[in-house]
Amino acid sequence: MANLIESNGDLEGLSGVETFKARSGGLYSTLPEDLASDAPNFCEESVQIMKHHGSYQQDNRDTRKERKKAGLDKDYRMMLRTKFPGGRITAEQYLLCDELCDKYGQGDLRATSRQCFQFHGVIKKDFRPLIYDLNKLAKITTIGACGDVVRNTMGNPVADIDAKYKDCSVDLIAMAQKVSTATTPTTKSYYDIWLNDEKATLHDDGTVSFGADVRGEETPDELYGIQYLPRKFKVGFATDFDNSVDVYTQDLGVIAATEDGKIIGYEILAGGGLGFAHTNAKTYPRAGSHIAFVQEDEVLEIILAVIKVQRDYGDRTDRKQARLKYTIDNMGLDTFIARVHEYGGKPFGVARNVKPTAQPDYLGWNKQFQDGLNYVGLWIENGRIKDFDGSHQFRSGIRKIVETYKPSVRVTPHHNIILANIKDEDVEAVQAIIDEHKIPTDKGISTLRRLEMACPSLPLCALAQSEAERYIPTLMDGLEAAGHSDAKIIIRMTGCPNGCARSSSSEIGLVGKGPGRYALHVAGDYLGTRMNKQLLKMVKEEELVPTISTLLDAWKAQRNEDEYFGDWSLRMGNDALLELLGVEV
Ligand code: SF4
Repeated sequence: MANLIESNGDLEGLSGVETFKARSGGLYSTLPEDLASDAPNFCEESVQIMKHHGSYQQDNRDTRKERKKAGLDKDYRMMLRTKFPGGRITAEQYLLCDELCDKYGQGDLRATSRQCFQFHGVIKKDFRPLIYDLNKLAKITTIGACGDVVRNTMGNPVADIDAKYKDCSVDLIAMAQKVSTATTPTTKSYYDIWLNDEKATLHDDGTVSFGADVRGEETPDELYGIQYLPRKFKVGFATDFDNSVDVYTQDLGVIAATEDGKIIGYEILAGGGLGFAHTNAKTYPRAGSHIAFVQEDEVLEIILAVIKVQRDYGDRTDRKQARLKYTIDNMGLDTFIARVHEYGGKPFGVARNVKPTAQPDYLGWNKQFQDGLNYVGLWIENGRIKDFDGSHQFRSGIRKIVETYKPSVRVTPHHNIILANIKDEDVEAVQAIIDEHKIPTDKGISTLRRLEMACPSLPLCALAQSEAERYIPTLMDGLEAAGHSDAKIIIRMTGCPNGCARSSSSEIGLVGKGPGRYALHVAGDYLGTRMNKQLLKMVKEEELVPTISTLLDAWKAQRNEDEYFGDWSLRMGNDALLELLGVEV
């Protein structure tokens, strides 16, 4: 393994993406040339660098075969992800996103499990105009939403309004925004390529030509250098009474510790991560380790110190070993902590093992601590803000409320939407719009579905091995029909082990393993403090309902009082659970 310090500028032996980053000249890469071409797609080098600008190149996998047969190229589509630190946006920003998803996307918005929006289905010629309009009309950026940098910084979406936070005296969403600002790449490439009217000429066919001076002066990024981080890096803020951000899954997690409602310090976790590969035993999900307890003015210092240690010591030869979790395990936790102190220029306080005691989802109506104001949490099925035929009219309903009442809008870590600052006198009218559009809150869905999550997966994600978002409603229907509507449990499904819907930190995680096949994981906990583990290597789609039903029946019959499924399945152990399922141990 080689890291940045060992490689000392020599790229030989490092992964291909390292070369692309190093020679991108500050993330310009081949993007100007690709935008000047009328090809429907970007080249591989641009694709890798474009991630740092907030986008993945995808194609419609549903049509791949028939297009190939017809001699056609893939139906290329870009996904563009925004950055909303702490998930908070204004009504005006929401309405612009709503408008732009029609103008440039596939007519829906996808709320993500990291509190952003994704625009799906954007064709190449509409891609630059979408980024341009988001930035110019709504001050919404996408830089750093993907790529080997700090991604959208998560934070409790109601930290500035919920009664539990009244005495905290620190706006944790503002802290998330501060971290986001300090870790946004400083390159001018984002501005030059997507926003600079003087350097670009737009043509009628959607191509863009740039002047020879499109590339600005190459100044290495102060935090990231020229090679950025070895892999993506996730930061999230929780409190000891609220783990909605799933803090143990973050590369860097912060838990605000409270006493009598007031924040007394911040527990720092490092090395959380979800992804693994089915066929690579050296990869695994990992819960963050407690590494320090610090005060408010040290939070950013220690975050930057951890990022720099990862920048310099993370594995740059093998991207499957490049996340912070592997850096820590390779180095040893004590050595890692010593390095963090060295990079931070001081010894940080010793961790106090502060843990969260709840993982709320904020659904339904709640009084704000500001007099006369309320917020309502809306359940969005798998984050897809769209009007479903004969069913939930998520997009029209939310748009009508936002246009009429101008609430503050928040995206939650469970890919739901919160509308805040609704006056007492408007609550009834807002609820009427919610009802008219069949949008569930804490009412209108079963307990079983309330905490479900699924990633977008097929048809657009290039890494998807199985269905997720399109299939989980069918699975839930089956479990409800089997009598489990009342099960208070966290079930999450992802189309591959990357874990975008945090399948590894759920009580039951279903991880795509091929068409109609899933690995089944159990024994995560309801509070999100530990990762689950594999029970069955592979379950066919048609066996999922009977298999999960058998487990839920046994849990209901055998659990101790108030024992969650995850705790019960951990207590039982895999052998007993397999016996229960009639699988030979
Ligand atoms: Fe794609 Fe896998 Fe992420 Fe799902 S978990 S969106 S399939 S990368």
